[in-house]
Amino acid sequence: MPEEPMAATEASIGQPPATSHQPPQPAASRDDRRAAIMLKEWPALKADVAACTACPLHAGRKKTVFGVGDENADWLFIGEGPGADEDTQGEPFVGQAGKLLDSMLASIRLKRGANVYIANVVKCRPPGNRNPEPAEAAACEPYLQRQIDLIRPKLIVALGKVAAANLLASDASVASMRGKVHSYRGIPLIVTYHPAYLLRSLPEKAKAWTDLCFAVKTMTELPARPNAG
Ligand code: SF4
Repeated sequence: MPEEPMAATEASIGQPPATSHQPPQPAASRDDRRAAIMLKEWPALKADVAACTACPLHAGRKKTVFGVGDENADWLFIGEGPGADEDTQGEPFVGQAGKLLDSMLASIRLKRGANVYIANVVKCRPPGNRNPEPAEAAACEPYLQRQIDLIRPKLIVALGKVAAANLLASDASVASMRGKVHSYRGIPLIVTYHPAYLLRSLPEKAKAWTDLCFAVKTMTELPARPNAG
């Protein structure tokens, strides 16, 4: 799904929509929606996403793709949005890119669902597998932020340019963001390539392996989470 490097995006978490197919939501209404989402626990959050019509992506989806995995995970992997397989199955990273992600996880002794949570920037499939528009990412961002607040991961791995751009409010390339420990609201964050990109760019697989090793090293050096259960 992702084109990498992608076209420049101004998407950043919490910024007002730059473009939209819908009339802009008044700031007060947007703030009220965000505040309500930030109070939701898992069941209400999942139900909210399943019924969401906050951005134009709802119109073309078959299923929302909330996220999957261990809700107390130390590891959180974030991609950009559902593709066709994900839209059909309602689960992130299925199909060929999902198999590669599972292999990447296995290479560092991790497994989907076991101390790992997987989510996307947007929960509904952008048509034609295009990148999410900034307004779509902004509309969906409170859900991801609430997921992160509930999971409280020790480390976030941003998969690809769109995820990194939205989480870090940066338009830098993946190449320039790799190999560094960034921060998303105080949580260490590492950037690597999206599995779908790696499927098309086999030479970059070695770099992704380097990134995973860096992530493991970073994780081992992090203190235990307070009240981790
Ligand atoms: S992408 Fe996110 S904000 Fe847009 S309709 Fe789907 S759940 Fe709602």
